[in-house]
Amino acid sequence: MAHAAPATRPDRPPAVDVAANLAAVNAEVQEAAQAAGRSADQITLIAVCKGHPASLILPALAAGHVAFGENRVQEATEKWRALRADWPGAALHYIGALQTNKAREAVAVADAIHAIDRPKLANALAREMERQARRPDCFIQVNTGAEPQKAGALPENLDRLVAQCRDDLELPVVGLMCIPPAAEDPAPHFALLREFAACHGLECLSMGMSADYRVAIALGATHVRIGTAIFGARPAR
Ligand SMILES: *Cc1c(COP(=O)(O)O)cnc(C)c1O
Repeated sequence: MAHAAPATRPDRPPAVDVAANLAAVNAEVQEAAQAAGRSADQITLIAVCKGHPASLILPALAAGHVAFGENRVQEATEKWRALRADWPGAALHYIGALQTNKAREAVAVADAIHAIDRPKLANALAREMERQARRPDCFIQVNTGAEPQKAGALPENLDRLVAQCRDDLELPVVGLMCIPPAAEDPAPHFALLREFAACHGLECLSMGMSADYRVAIALGATHVRIGTAIFGARPAR
């Protein structure tokens, strides 16, 4: 005899076990680090929760996770006002393209900014850090694939931008960030970013997403930014 099919709710995504996904990704990070002869302690897993509601973030916080990624200033500010009150240890990484007129809010909300890619933005961030007496860690984003539609400094402008940020503006620059072109092997881009960082004596490498973080770890990533593998597909904006 046929059983009644369970009611389907096509408008609602299937339940996601965030704690289990997070544990699995942490285990993979550990494995990838070990395989590369590195310690997982050198790698910060940024759980990218952009587009997701607090109800999905809470299981990660409850599991003891600390680093989270957002890519819109207003969303981050609104969502984390309440979350931060209950979880003061959480650290927010701003990973999106950043408009200069959002520098004030970005400095106010973020513990790290992975999106510095032009002099005007660097200037605005420096002004705000001074004004707010807050100094989030700064990553300079590099457009390693020189894609016209993508944020990030072009490789040929990087030396000048690093010097401006670090020497002229005295921003707390800790490293570089990249997003390789979607259709290409990411490995050469990660290797290039590592080379640039070594040239400038920068320690941190923000590279690797759900699809390629193992490769990024093999090539020296210190910060991997992982969304989908932890929180599932993002709802449409
Ligand atoms: C959304 C986003 C991520 C996470 O991507 P997933 O493929 O979902 O892991 C990482 N980095 C940046 C800059 C992003 O915007």
